[in-house]
Amino acid sequence: MSFSKMQSQFIKPLNRPNEEYKILQLLGKGGFGMCFEVENQDGEVFALKAIEKNSTGQNYDEVLNEIMIQSELKHPYIVNLYDVFDDLDFVYLKMELCSNNSLLEMVQNRGELTESEVRLYMIQLIDAVGYMHNNNILHRDLKPDNIFLSDNLDLRVGDFGLSKELNSTDERQRNPCGTLPYMAPEILNPKVGYGFEADIWAIGVIMYILLFGCQPFGGHTRSMVIDRIRNADFEFPSDIEVSHDAKNLISAILNPEYGKRLTLSEIRQHFFFRGPTPVELPLSALRTAPNFE
Ligand code: ADP
Repeated sequence: MSFSKMQSQFIKPLNRPNEEYKILQLLGKGGFGMCFEVENQDGEVFALKAIEKNSTGQNYDEVLNEIMIQSELKHPYIVNLYDVFDDLDFVYLKMELCSNNSLLEMVQNRGELTESEVRLYMIQLIDAVGYMHNNNILHRDLKPDNIFLSDNLDLRVGDFGLSKELNSTDERQRNPCGTLPYMAPEILNPKVGYGFEADIWAIGVIMYILLFGCQPFGGHTRSMVIDRIRNADFEFPSDIEVSHDAKNLISAILNPEYGKRLTLSEIRQHFFFRGPTPVELPLSALRTAPNFE
């Protein structure tokens, strides 16, 4: 993707004479294009994802898939896709701006989060993923990088590029897809196939990362990581104090037998959620552990 076609400071959608978006900054470059922070004539800010029209093949199909699925999903903890438009060179996805980066940056800055914070984020994540699954959408790429943070540090699940609409709740997918450290064992075994339980496994990996600040299934080589995932071979670091309830919940989610893995409602009923949960987090939580006293 070249920047040359994006020289103009303004984006003017075709056939929409009253709309104009001023580019404020480049938020990031992704697999298919660039994502900008923009402002409309009324001073409202958005994230605008630009995909070059002459890009072809699988990438473009993934973007179309993302548009189809994300435009159907309206939920407080899912990135809102407001509109899709184009100009001569690009297709644009006009989305809710998530001004505080993603859970990845938060956990990188902090090292690890407190259990109270993790309870709040798990509740929001389970709520969002439950809504997707009720709408037969499998996300397939849940990870801290794709979980953005709103102005008041609530979660916004985004990046539906790999997501898939299933025809029925028990339909199994066979093509391995996603990001290896978050892939459930059944994704790595095409004979078995995978379904909604694979997103739940990724939630278990995310919970582990938030509490311990490292991957449960690390390894120097891809095959080492795969072996560890297949056997659910993970340990809890001894230098970070985490409650028995939290560890018990992670172990029950990271069950290699997908039929025995907790469901979203079972997760929500777990003892872990009886602990204190903040209503919202202060902005300082991006850098330092909040004091909830
Ligand atoms: P990819 O899916 O390959 O990461 P994207 O084009 O979706 O690429 O996103 C590129 C970058 O833009 C992301 O890494 C993120 O930093 C930023 N970004 C994407 N969507 C938003 C959003 N809604 N609000 C704020 N930043 C965003």
